[in-house]
Amino acid sequence: MNHGNGYISLLCPEIQRIILEHLGLSDLITLAETRNENKEGIKDYIAKRRVKLFRSFVDDVDGLLSMMEDTGSVVSGSSALSLIRPEAEELRARDMDVYVTEAFEEEVLKHLKEKEGYAGAGDVVLKQEYNDSAMAKIFKLEKGEKKVDVIVTHWTAAVAPILQFHTTSVMNYITADSLVCLYPRWTTEKKGFVNPRLYLEGKSTLHTVEGLMKYVGRGFKIRADPLQLGEHNCEDNTDNQGGYCPHKLRSTVDDEVMQWNYSPTKTLGETTIVCQTMPVMVWCLGGYECAVGNKDETMSMMFVCA
Ligand SMILES: [Zn+2]
Repeated sequence: MNHGNGYISLLCPEIQRIILEHLGLSDLITLAETRNENKEGIKDYIAKRRVKLFRSFVDDVDGLLSMMEDTGSVVSGSSALSLIRPEAEELRARDMDVYVTEAFEEEVLKHLKEKEGYAGAGDVVLKQEYNDSAMAKIFKLEKGEKKVDVIVTHWTAAVAPILQFHTTSVMNYITADSLVCLYPRWTTEKKGFVNPRLYLEGKSTLHTVEGLMKYVGRGFKIRADPLQLGEHNCEDNTDNQGGYCPHKLRSTVDDEVMQWNYSPTKTLGETTIVCQTMPVMVWCLGGYECAVGNKDETMSMMFVCA
């Protein structure tokens, strides 16, 4: 029976466009699954949004994407969050954060400087104050009004610093082929959970606090107690909301992750090749036990597993 779901192609293009602009990634994915015609239109819309975002920082979007593919680097921060949220609430992205491993640091910097005309803006920020920080250094680049930070990690996964101290609302990243949101339910509901490492290890640096304030300012509800962000089941690992217990072990490829794949999967003859160049990371936010009044802690940790 036809419930009228998803027949947005019956509407005029302007109305279709307005509807899409008010949907976040999770709703767009749901709508794309309703009908094949919608899937094509939404694929196109999501792809164009990324191009539009990148075009505000680089002249050659394809060049940036192939550099990201070659180096395994990812774009995170407010620009990645903007692609998860509806276009209608998008603020003009003022800065772009590129995360890269040490092995590809030079290649990324060379691309941005030589191909895109960026120049270093002041000194390289060395993150030496914490021995266990996954963030080795930050290069600040500028081109006129445009600002790009290149965040280098000595870990083998470019995403490591994103998992280490960040609030869940910024645990999103754009790879060459995909858009990944690690806490889709919270991020869709404009909620964010403060990484327990910040209070357990006293690492709320000015940078991270400023980052938090930015999202509070955009109407995000940021909390350090997960139960203030809704119910979750601490015990049942098979429960569909289980990933929202901070004590559960998560991975960048588990069922809780929301991922949109941009390019069609590459095929070689009849064999489908899944491009999984990104190392898989596992993490546990940890922090205080969820039960009210229980101040026992579990360890915050993360590692590269494959
Ligand atoms: Zn829990």
